[in-house]
Amino acid sequence: MLPISKTIETDLVVIGGGIGGLMAAISAAEQGTRVVVLEKADTRRSGSGGGGCDHFFCYLPEVHGNDLDVIFQELMESQIGSCYDPLLTYQFMKMSSSIVRKWQEWGINMKPYNNEFVFRGHAFPGRPRIWLKYDGHNQKAVLTKKARSLGVTILNHHDVLELLHDGTRALGALALDNSRSEPSFVLVQSRCVMMASGTASRLYTPMSTPSTMFNTANSPANAGAGHAQALRAGARLVNFELPYRHSGHKYWTRAGKGTWIVIFKYPDGSNVGPFITKATKEVSDITSDVWNNVFTDMAREGRAPIYMDCSQIDEEDFQCMMKDFESEGLTSFLNYMGKRGLDLRKQAVEFGQFEPYFLGRGVEIGVDGQTTLPGLYAAGDVVGNVRGAIAGAAVYGWICGENIGKRYQDLEIKPVADLDLTRERMEFFSSLYERKSGAPWQEGNWGLQQILTDYAGAGPERVRSETLLSAGLKNLRELRELCKAEMKVSNSHELMRAAEVFDLLDVGEAIMLCARERRETRGLHIRKDYPFTNPLYNKKIFYIERRNGEYVVGMRDKYK
Ligand SMILES: Cc1cc2nc3c(=O)[nH]c(=O)nc-3n(C[C@H](O)[C@H](O)[C@H](O)COP(=O)(O)OP(=O)(O)OC[C@H]3O[C@@H](n4cnc5c(N)ncnc54)[C@H](O)[C@@H]3O)c2cc1C
Repeated sequence: MLPISKTIETDLVVIGGGIGGLMAAISAAEQGTRVVVLEKADTRRSGSGGGGCDHFFCYLPEVHGNDLDVIFQELMESQIGSCYDPLLTYQFMKMSSSIVRKWQEWGINMKPYNNEFVFRGHAFPGRPRIWLKYDGHNQKAVLTKKARSLGVTILNHHDVLELLHDGTRALGALALDNSRSEPSFVLVQSRCVMMASGTASRLYTPMSTPSTMFNTANSPANAGAGHAQALRAGARLVNFELPYRHSGHKYWTRAGKGTWIVIFKYPDGSNVGPFITKATKEVSDITSDVWNNVFTDMAREGRAPIYMDCSQIDEEDFQCMMKDFESEGLTSFLNYMGKRGLDLRKQAVEFGQFEPYFLGRGVEIGVDGQTTLPGLYAAGDVVGNVRGAIAGAAVYGWICGENIGKRYQDLEIKPVADLDLTRERMEFFSSLYERKSGAPWQEGNWGLQQILTDYAGAGPERVRSETLLSAGLKNLRELRELCKAEMKVSNSHELMRAAEVFDLLDVGEAIMLCARERRETRGLHIRKDYPFTNPLYNKKIFYIERRNGEYVVGMRDKYK
């Protein structure tokens, strides 16, 4: 078996040093909690927020006035969607302004325009604005520095393979030290565990570049670890059956479309949407937020390509957009334009719709940030019942850390080395390394992508049905057995990728089980055998959890 290189004892172990994880670490450490962050990459630049972000949705009384309800309603009715628990969204709104002020104080510029709070982007003309424009290019470096200054231990290049538990509560984590080629395990035993591993990318065949599976809108290294590990541990997950698809530059799969100051145009130069006739930095075209499928729908109609046209915007607004691309982490696009001599004032850019990934589909938490598994907290894109994205990750990360800081002393630290789960997982991962020959991890990942795309695909071009989903489940389970029997890794990097594939397989199975249970059509979940939207489900949330080794799929009311 592969060796255990260290065993660490702490009050809180954080899985994933992204925005949510670092915020939880900082807030818990401020209260004297001993914190260890396990990060598979490097917290200074890892995760979806690694390059930067520039829209932070929040409620600031000095800008919005004293009626929080107005902003709450705008948020619930905007692109953020209606599949969340209003109670948690409300809690988020109440806390959001204090986080904006903390970030400003720590060195993330929340007032990049004349030292004032400016709200714009993803906005309807004449409606309240909920997105604060900020400059997040250095956000990961700032949060890392802050965490370290409070004594947080950050272990970079430590990939969490399994959330450890005894069936009644979370107890720690089994990690892989992938800082060297030779793999070894690291065990962390802790009073509480914070899950903050981000979204689940690489589930579906990439829409624009099927041959390059790491060309994804959000971090491709976020591979459903938290979703799968929380599910296996018995926590409840929600909204798995509702696909989410983002859009952006065609072939250059990347989030960040809200930063563009543009109008969407048909090839003949006419406008696609009804919202504006001139794009300004105050109000750009919100068509693709409202009509998510516009690019696919128009391709199917033969009316594509749809272009982002910046040719008519004022020079000052253009310069502002170019600067904002840096804040938003679109520097690779800027570099490419520079190298190729592209000028957005002269050349329109074709946009397209990407494959599904998880945003707001994931672990269920309560208002205090705790999951249904005692001792396990979660925040950010891994969470399913309140919006993640940058603000959700930051605010709920903070809430989790605060509550952990108040409660961690009530829980004792238990040894994890002798748990059956620890031993079984270490034996399994060691076997992938120790076998003489086998198939590379990529084959498992491609197989999963094909199965999900074919049997649990998302609208508007793909449909689902009882027969498709049942056949898909059978194929996926067979693929998992094949992977277990035949996958071979040769170093710690490949072992990390292999573990990701097994997590993604579990996420894929859960997607299909939930999709089979939701016997209606809603959004991009198009059931050919149930072609209508059932109003009785409007206020419900579908969940999945594991009880006594079996999956249970059910439905509950939204928390008001
Ligand atoms: C280009 C771009 C622009 C964006 N702009 C905006 C914006 O303007 N506004 C907005 O609201 N959102 C924006 N987003 C989305 C936003 O960045 C994410 O929603 C946010 O980072 C989520 O935070 P998180 O902590 O949940 O996940 P992340 O920040 O992705 O962090 C997850 C961390 O977990 C680590 N990890 C994953 N698995 C493991 C494992 N098994 N073991 C150890 N570590 C693990 C990852 O390496 C990563 O560091 C943008 C995204 C991109 C890509």
